[in-house]
Amino acid sequence: MAANMLAMPDIVLATLNAKFIHAAFGLRYLFANLGELQPRATLAEFDINQRTLDIAEALLARQPKIIGLGVYIWNAAATTEVVAILKRVRPEIIIILGGPEVSYEIEAQEIVRLADHVITGEADLKFAAVCRELLERQVGTQALACTDSTLKREFPLPKIIPAEPPEFSGLVLPYDFYTAADLAHRIVYVEASRGCPFTCEFCLSSLDIPVRAAPLEPFLGAMQKLLDRGLRQFKFVDRTFNLNLATSRTILEFFLARHQPGNFYHFEMIPDRLPAELREVIARFPPGALQFEVGVQTFNPDVGQRISRRQNYERLADNLDFLRNRTQVHIHADLIVGLPGESVESFAAGFDRLIGFGPQEIQVGILKRLRGTPIVRHDAEWGMVYHAQPPYEILQNWLINFAMMQRLRRFAKYWELVGNSGNFIGTAPLLWRDESPFTSCLRFSDWLYARLARTDSIALVRLAELMFEFLTGELRLDAPRVADAMLGDWQRGGRRDLPEFLREFQPAKNRERAQPVRTSMPKRQARHLGI
Ligand code: SF4
Repeated sequence: MAANMLAMPDIVLATLNAKFIHAAFGLRYLFANLGELQPRATLAEFDINQRTLDIAEALLARQPKIIGLGVYIWNAAATTEVVAILKRVRPEIIIILGGPEVSYEIEAQEIVRLADHVITGEADLKFAAVCRELLERQVGTQALACTDSTLKREFPLPKIIPAEPPEFSGLVLPYDFYTAADLAHRIVYVEASRGCPFTCEFCLSSLDIPVRAAPLEPFLGAMQKLLDRGLRQFKFVDRTFNLNLATSRTILEFFLARHQPGNFYHFEMIPDRLPAELREVIARFPPGALQFEVGVQTFNPDVGQRISRRQNYERLADNLDFLRNRTQVHIHADLIVGLPGESVESFAAGFDRLIGFGPQEIQVGILKRLRGTPIVRHDAEWGMVYHAQPPYEILQNWLINFAMMQRLRRFAKYWELVGNSGNFIGTAPLLWRDESPFTSCLRFSDWLYARLARTDSIALVRLAELMFEFLTGELRLDAPRVADAMLGDWQRGGRRDLPEFLREFQPAKNRERAQPVRTSMPKRQARHLGI
């Protein structure tokens, strides 16, 4: 069932996604739970690369009475602009905000000042209740029964309206509102639970939000429907998928029994909880089917304790070793730079240790001060200074000054291109042949930045050429050996072309067949090559 595409709905539910490819999950939950208002509502998705004037124009063209906007860390600035434009052009349209970015520390926010109402917390049911009340009392033409006792028939409604975390059993599941195009072309999110029982102080999920599980039978029924409609990639947003072992196992068994080549399932895991009954089913998944996002964050137990993150490092090591060596799981492990009390040396030791486990990806995240999170209690003691604008990344602390933080920020970005992209699987380890992976990669990062003065929009062939130059020139590695690794990487994806700088290392008969790629290739051609 597609979302209602009314030309002139009373309610428009909108958000700005980080990229077009991300289908807005929360918006579909709100739409699914509108009840009798659903025929009077429509969904409108945009992305942050669109111009805010165009977004406002598209919203106004629908002539709604109410616009609900999902506000997140990635869209807060652009959404503020959209709301400002809407309120200047059509001040009578009621703007209701929701989402994590406007659920905490709301007093000082410009977007909150501009909006009519803000629903804090999980708004799945409350949004419908507020719309019902507004349409009946203020702008409505037909009587609607308000069933939400917490609104107390109070009018005008308060600006800030808190929503209690709803029970899953009271929610209509949103999966029917993914369209066929969503299923075919976008990242589709699903969830079997909400909340997290842990207390990591940098994380929004630690804010005393009870863990709630979706009733399993209807949830699996909805997953079956998505499979039947052709969905192949499922991204679970559960913060701790392996919390309830029986449920995790049932869900994994469900997908394994229906697995077809090309299907892919992504889960977020806590890394120190992988007992035998879960290991057994994980090990039966074929290559390319499972991806686990494993939040390590820090290997320093003192830092872990300081930020109230409970982690058993022995079990974590054992589980990483198991996943890497006895399963086909693609591991995406997370580390954070800038935690209170974590020095560069401590981070480096953690990075090197994680490299030793051989995960396919290591995401180096820069600490963010998310609104409402208790990480701020360390600000004075550790000199924590964060950017004032979203995503509120750390700028410096007592142990890592601004200049060093900038180097680490670039390290994280280049690591994405070199270590995580899958483009240099054979070549990247040459960077740290004889020394600490962190030290060597930081040196490469500094060298690369001195050459490029940027960390993005780097064509793959240019990056490969610079990496070759660094490995053979700076590290003095044997050129044929480096070329051999790079040729393997270049051809792994089935490419038939060949960068010019590698041509002399290619066996003669292959060289004739290969098309040369010049470093100055046009951008469009570079994109065609997956760059
Ligand atoms: S970081 Fe992970 S384990 Fe910690 S509170 Fe957040 S979701 Fe829970």
